[in-house]
Amino acid sequence: MKLRIAIQKSGRLHEDSIKLLKECGIDINNGVNKLKTEATNFPLEVFFLRDDDIPQYVEDGVADLGIVGENVVLEKGYPLETVEKLGFGKCRLAIAVPKSMAYNSVQDLHGKRIATSYPVIVKDFLKKVNIEAEIHEISGSVEIAPGIGLAEAICDLVSSGSTLFMNGLKEVENVLRSEAVLVANSKLTEEQKQLLRKLVFRIQAVKKAKN
Ligand code: ATP
Ligand code: ZN
Repeated sequence: MKLRIAIQKSGRLHEDSIKLLKECGIDINNGVNKLKTEATNFPLEVFFLRDDDIPQYVEDGVADLGIVGENVVLEKGYPLETVEKLGFGKCRLAIAVPKSMAYNSVQDLHGKRIATSYPVIVKDFLKKVNIEAEIHEISGSVEIAPGIGLAEAICDLVSSGSTLFMNGLKEVENVLRSEAVLVANSKLTEEQKQLLRKLVFRIQAVKKAKN
């Protein structure tokens, strides 16, 4: 019996995900362009996927575990179990508007068009603050939307804010704080749960050693 874990194939979470497994003493040989690989010293199979696909693979049970941003987990909305926060991939999902726009409160978003790749999370946020705005879902380069007249505001991931600044935008609302998390399928067998506990124990030890 093996646990199958899905991690990002390439991108911001890839390196840190591999590093975490290595720090847990799990040896994997991750060749370029590989779809999956097996650990040599732990019953673990590693799948390399696009981060957006990870929640569904875990929900479907094609993978037992996944390492993915909380932002993606929330947006997809599957009933996955968040087992452990991992302390990397930290960012926030924020609403930004053109620097020139007068902005005093969230009321100023009323009736505006907001471009985002996170329609579910933004819709939730608007409902919570009782604002009616139009959501325009776009998959990439969200920060250019105001400049090309597609929307008056955006909601996108931010870490330093330099991308916003370069595009003449200012951050006005913090919608969500996010970091990478370990998620699990909600129907693991006892045997799988036991292996998961072993993995989580090691992850916690790695985290403790860093504090
Ligand atoms: P993929 O090809 O896997 O779909 P992607 O382009 O959607 O990749 P990345 O940009 O690699 O995704 O980001 C992956 C995750 O890293 C994000 O979902 C988020 O949780 C986290 N992250 C941390 N900092 C940032 C940031 N400044 N901008 C975007 N994402 C960030
Ligand atoms: Zn993605």
